[in-house]
Amino acid sequence: MSTKRVGIIGAGQLGRMMALAGTPLDVDFVFFDEAKVSPSSRLGEVIHPSQDNALEAFLEKVDVVTYESENTDTDLVERICKSVPVYPGADSLRFSQHRLTEKNKFRELGIATAEFRKVTTKDELVDAANELGLPIVLKTTTMGYDGKGQAVVKVPADIDSAWETLKGNELIAEAFVNFSRELSVIAVRDTQGNTQVYPVAENDHSEGILRISRVPAKQLSAEKETQAKHYINMVLDSLNHVGVLTLELFDTENGLVANEMAPRVHNSGHWSMEGAYCSQFESHVRAICDMPLGSTKQRQSHAAMINIIGKHGDKASVLNTQNAFLHLYGKEERSNRKLGHINLVCDSEEQLETNIQSFTDFVNECG
Ligand code: AMP
Repeated sequence: MSTKRVGIIGAGQLGRMMALAGTPLDVDFVFFDEAKVSPSSRLGEVIHPSQDNALEAFLEKVDVVTYESENTDTDLVERICKSVPVYPGADSLRFSQHRLTEKNKFRELGIATAEFRKVTTKDELVDAANELGLPIVLKTTTMGYDGKGQAVVKVPADIDSAWETLKGNELIAEAFVNFSRELSVIAVRDTQGNTQVYPVAENDHSEGILRISRVPAKQLSAEKETQAKHYINMVLDSLNHVGVLTLELFDTENGLVANEMAPRVHNSGHWSMEGAYCSQFESHVRAICDMPLGSTKQRQSHAAMINIIGKHGDKASVLNTQNAFLHLYGKEERSNRKLGHINLVCDSEEQLETNIQSFTDFVNECG
């Protein structure tokens, strides 16, 4: 097997963890990112796009290109595709970048979503509120993440402020989904169309930021597990997707409702680094490098991921816990910033919850 060279657009923690997973498989990494200091910079060369002939230099050094973010420039990806394969392809990127296109795709595939309306004027917002019924969630169609670019309209009096906050952007109004919890399903597809799906994760958010993921999702019916797997397999195949894909879901009384997808490894899949036989990062590298896929099964019955937000906290307490694994991204402390995560792997739900309790300081240290 000759050394494969992967180019990653972006040099953040996702690129870093892809490189950490791919290096033992004899894969080398080159990053394309403007930042002078980045989580990935110790794991491969970083080419800065503003350098002379940066793209040419980058493409000369790689056999295949991937990216870290769904907000990656599609024009750049289209240009790269002409000389070097990019996985996931431009279709996966385009559908995940635009909430209307994305929801229309889900609908076309028979995947349940919130009712929604396109909103470009205040009158359309008023119409959407009347047609969908309050509350509604108003979102920018592009560039939203971690709950940013959103406003909830609970009563008619909220319409003015929601409009003032978000006007000037193309918007989508979504009916409010009454969900009991948020779930995500992550899967990988290779160039031959083979797929592997990870167990469904249950995700706790606060202030729009993921704090804790638990796997498997507690008491998820076999029917819903099957529904999640069916949904993601349909999306993977319809986009001819290669690499890892994540689907965020709301759990409701009437079944699972898709919220959004990300054509990439995902924060809610970080548990898989020690919790699964083949982590989401290794799965992604294997898929885009034409290697056989690994097993997405759990190594032990229970796993969790706790994000380290804002401050690094007491690292020794993690290192002193046998079934806890510390992952730091080499980032400076800053309010609400994801600095790393703790993975927990164990054999019982009781032990998992006890461990999670002992580390709640890490998720609460934002401020
Ligand atoms: P998003 O940026 O679409 O992931 O939304 C951020 C968060 O807002 C989600 O994780 C949900 O907690 C909440 N949310 C988004 N859309 C809806 C909706 N249609 N109904 C209820 N809650 C929503």
